[in-house]
Amino acid sequence: MRKQIVAGNWKMNKNIQESIQLANEVVANVQGLTLNNTRVIVTPTFVNLTEVVRATDGSAVEVAAQNMHQAKSGAFTGEISAEMLTSLGLKTVILGHSERREYFGETDAILAEKVNAALANNLEVIFCFGEVLEDRKSDNHFNVVESQIKNGLFHLEASAWENIVLAYEPVWAIGTGETASPEQAQEMHAFIRKIVADKYTTEVAENVSILYGGSVKPSNSKEIFSKEDVDGGLIGGAALNAEDFIALVKSF
Ligand code: PEP
Repeated sequence: MRKQIVAGNWKMNKNIQESIQLANEVVANVQGLTLNNTRVIVTPTFVNLTEVVRATDGSAVEVAAQNMHQAKSGAFTGEISAEMLTSLGLKTVILGHSERREYFGETDAILAEKVNAALANNLEVIFCFGEVLEDRKSDNHFNVVESQIKNGLFHLEASAWENIVLAYEPVWAIGTGETASPEQAQEMHAFIRKIVADKYTTEVAENVSILYGGSVKPSNSKEIFSKEDVDGGLIGGAALNAEDFIALVKSF
């Protein structure tokens, strides 16, 4: 059965003290909750991973990385490998965030390599994709999403999908305060599940968690998360504050 996931992407925010404080607050609040089928993930910047892993140790809060390099090791100044992440005890990495695609030139081909490297190191991948506003306006959003998923993931064997989480993040809704309506999110998520079923099997499609990302906040999360094919959220701004983040977890 697929899991519900609330994953907070802290991006390039929070210094070490602030990261520990936020992690402690999230842990303290999650302790009192009955999570059932819901996973709670926080994603600090690389330099703060070790301390956040320590702060969340023994709790239900999981820690993931925001990115990684595709190579095993070597002369890649400033980069982090999959093995470095697993050596910290991490089990999950976000790949393909639209900010990585847009500002750091991550193409579908690079992302396919990153996915392979992550899976080879037993890391689960939260794979992000989504259309820009012009694509939505020109009714090209389904094509864009299909091609991003196809190019990044459809080379995988069906069994690899146990370690894939999908995150549909319309770029026009990220950090803009503009949210896809629950109906728009459901429409796209159902489409995604169908293309996965067509390529693999209904079982693979039914078992993959599909998160929505884009200005999710406590005031809109219940409605979005209640949609049949929406299995949770990848959260930016609202994840930087424990109270808001926990309110999102409680929407399930
Ligand atoms: C994100 O960057 O993944 C995101 C969804 O950000 P926000 O929630 O701030 O729109």
